[in-house]
Amino acid sequence: MNTRTQEHKNTVILGGGESGVGAALLAKKLGHQVFVSDKGSIAEKYKEELNKNAIPYEEGEHTLTKILEADEVIKSPGIPDKVPVIQAVVAKGIPVISEIEFASRHTDSTVIAITGSNGKTTTTKLTFHILESAGFDVAIGGNVGYSFARLVTEVKKAHYVLEISSFQLDNIQSFRPDIAMILNITPDHLDRYNYKLENYINSKFKIIENQSKKDLFLYNDNNENIINKLKNIKLAPKGVAISEQMIDGNFVVIGDSRFDMSKTQLRGKHNYMNALFAIHAAKALGAKDEAIQKGLETFVNVAHRMELVATIKDVEYINDSKATNVDSVFYALQAMTKPTIWIVGGQDKGNDYEPLFPFVKEKVKAIVCMGADNSKLLEVFGDFGKPMLEANSAKEAVEMSTKLARSGDTILLSPACASFDLFKNYEDRGNQFKDAVLKLV
Ligand code: ADP
Repeated sequence: MNTRTQEHKNTVILGGGESGVGAALLAKKLGHQVFVSDKGSIAEKYKEELNKNAIPYEEGEHTLTKILEADEVIKSPGIPDKVPVIQAVVAKGIPVISEIEFASRHTDSTVIAITGSNGKTTTTKLTFHILESAGFDVAIGGNVGYSFARLVTEVKKAHYVLEISSFQLDNIQSFRPDIAMILNITPDHLDRYNYKLENYINSKFKIIENQSKKDLFLYNDNNENIINKLKNIKLAPKGVAISEQMIDGNFVVIGDSRFDMSKTQLRGKHNYMNALFAIHAAKALGAKDEAIQKGLETFVNVAHRMELVATIKDVEYINDSKATNVDSVFYALQAMTKPTIWIVGGQDKGNDYEPLFPFVKEKVKAIVCMGADNSKLLEVFGDFGKPMLEANSAKEAVEMSTKLARSGDTILLSPACASFDLFKNYEDRGNQFKDAVLKLV
């Protein structure tokens, strides 16, 4: 048993990114003895912050002797359980927690926690925006912007809207959101879950494991993985089903309240579902319908997610570079209302493209493959009777698509793949696409 007082608690933090540094600042403020260890390099701005706060750290190595002196280890979400340092910590019986677990122990504010395979960032930002514009004392964080621990330490607010990944949920003990959301569950990150979908589903459901009947759980009622899981558990919180039946044309409907989505920037059924989650949370916290509608109308969606870049000669250019898996492309293609030239490709993650076939048949007029190796795409979509071209850069892809396009068409970058073969990351891919489009103007 740990007999040290809280003031002398020895806390080791593995990982020196936003999450680790946030945890370090909170631990320091609580009077713990703190040490940050990162096997890679720590960004300059974080080193400055650690130095300023007299928090010792190391980079490029994990010094086990120091780490194993900890009373508790806080692990950054990027570090898998199977790495030797975690194995050694666990073998010594030292508790390993995530940063959201640590932060949640030190706040009494309302927590709205949002997880899912797709739509987390959009829904987190939308929920925050609606609440903030309705006058709530609220901050946003988690996987987007500031870490939860930093919010609790430096940005104290009455409500926190948090984007939560399954990796953050893997190491919780008592984290209990007042409102939890599971937007959807489709296969992703299976390499971290022994390639078992069940493990990934269980990890997402940890978001409700400490909830009680006074808490809310909003879930997607059209998602098979969620519905099947719910059949096998007894739900402690109040469950609220969010379903596509609540979409009525351009309106989303909750009870007697109707919200007009045509006045917003949000396009596609998936975004209407995201909006339903956000609206429900805002209503539960007491926001009025009128304020919610206003928030929806003033929301500017995050870049690289179904972002309308420009309309040139009556051709729309849409940047959906963040669509790095098949499910997000499914919703992008579903949302298309005009003949579409689809730019797809990159580093394939073992994709099964079959769910896209009906949309490709119906809506896609040409396919531009943008990857270092396009052989799989050429094979899968080769028999659809659509023109297929290969591009080696975003500029080339934009030029090719523009040549193919006629007035009234849409050019959609929605890659279904990771970006690392040709680009630094999905932002770089999206930005290069946008630059190439804007050069056409
Ligand atoms: P996340 O943070 O979960 O990665 P984002 O909001 O960044 O989600 O969106 C990622 C991709 O998924 C984008 O291409 C976006 O258009 C698409 N998307 C957004 N919401 C949903 C949803 N509810 N279901 C499926 N795809 C979605």
